[in-house]
Amino acid sequence: MLARRHVLDGREFVVLHDEARRETLELDPATWAVLSCADGTRDVEGIIAAAARTGARSTPSALSRLLIALAERDCLREGAPDHAPDVVTIRTRPEDVAALPIASLPNYRYHCDGSGGCCRAYGSVLLTPGDRDRARAALPDHEIAGLPAARWFTPDKGSAPTPLSVPVAVDGGCGFLATDGSCEIHRRIGLEGKPQGCAAFPRMACADGVEVRVSVIPECACVLRPVPDGVGEPLDEGWTRGADIPAITVVDVLPASVVLDGERTESRAWLRSQVAEVLGEVERARDPARVCWTRADAWSSPEPVDLEPYVASLRGRARDLLRRRTTYVGENDWVLRSLQWLVGTLHLLGDADLRSLIVAPTEQADPVEVRYLRAALWGYQGFEAGPAVRVMRTHAAKIWIARAMAEVPLAPSKAALPLATLSMLLRGHALARAWE
Ligand code: SF4
Repeated sequence: MLARRHVLDGREFVVLHDEARRETLELDPATWAVLSCADGTRDVEGIIAAAARTGARSTPSALSRLLIALAERDCLREGAPDHAPDVVTIRTRPEDVAALPIASLPNYRYHCDGSGGCCRAYGSVLLTPGDRDRARAALPDHEIAGLPAARWFTPDKGSAPTPLSVPVAVDGGCGFLATDGSCEIHRRIGLEGKPQGCAAFPRMACADGVEVRVSVIPECACVLRPVPDGVGEPLDEGWTRGADIPAITVVDVLPASVVLDGERTESRAWLRSQVAEVLGEVERARDPARVCWTRADAWSSPEPVDLEPYVASLRGRARDLLRRRTTYVGENDWVLRSLQWLVGTLHLLGDADLRSLIVAPTEQADPVEVRYLRAALWGYQGFEAGPAVRVMRTHAAKIWIARAMAEVPLAPSKAALPLATLSMLLRGHALARAWE
């Protein structure tokens, strides 16, 4: 169960996300204040006493009714949390990864437009205890939509305090996002004081046994939009070894044996050489999507291009997410409008003739598609977790669906890029599970 505090049009409320039932439940802030004292160590009287110390009131009968309702939904867990509320365990970087040289995505720079699009695009921005302390210290006189600092954060999961926590969302975006698109924490104390995950975004890293590749998560238009030579920011900040990458940036590690399809595996050295070949082809090809599909054919057995299964499985999940999000955000919410764009496109792609048109080979490669594939393939994105054949077919399906989105006039803004928006929804909002 995830609890997220929202302020929408000046009204504060807490949304409980019941992921198992794919439902949401809205609580008023006072009820959440009491429930957040249910940390697994207290009985009903203890919860009420702890809540009273924070100024929140309840009665045994009212609290019991709430707890019974949550138990009936299987949302209660027995016992105390097994973590300290203020200690984040950052995975220790293995020695062999720390010693590897850095290899950043070649010939790549990006330009952040400073509009705060990525601060409106995710449901949970995760802050460490240090991030929270710095934010509170940097903004001593600050209120977020009228809320004092005591109501800025909710636990990452459950009701008890957790090491990672999530800031209140204001009108669907991060509560620290100022009206001019800048981050209020960044503005007050600079990049060094910003939440570490935000400061690291959009960089990602993956070790392949030879080097640590640094690339970008292609979920933001600023990352995929080509920039002129000499413009924009570099990726590696002068890092030379894996050990130089800040601890907050997770370095994925390609497994020594990579699953191709079913039981078939290959070594990561094999994948490294294959990815190098595909990257070369992507640079030269007229149709980058076809490169991915054809390579998947070569790694398994040839399959006719068929977008229908990808459309059908994604449509149900996207509609469901849209239905739930509509209940707690406003009509201009960035993610809501992105979902409307995607759902509208998937609806149209139910037509077989339209799907045929969309997957028809292109005569000239779209630079955004090339940039997307360069970033994803260089960073081995997806290969560390799923079969390689599926990763390549999924890249192709994403590009085709994004091409269709470009034809549907439902984009949330003129600056939105379909491939970035689709990537954000697939990973950041777990829609990619539809394709697993
Ligand atoms: S904390 Fe700042 S950078 Fe991070 S999501 Fe919020 S507004 Fe954006």
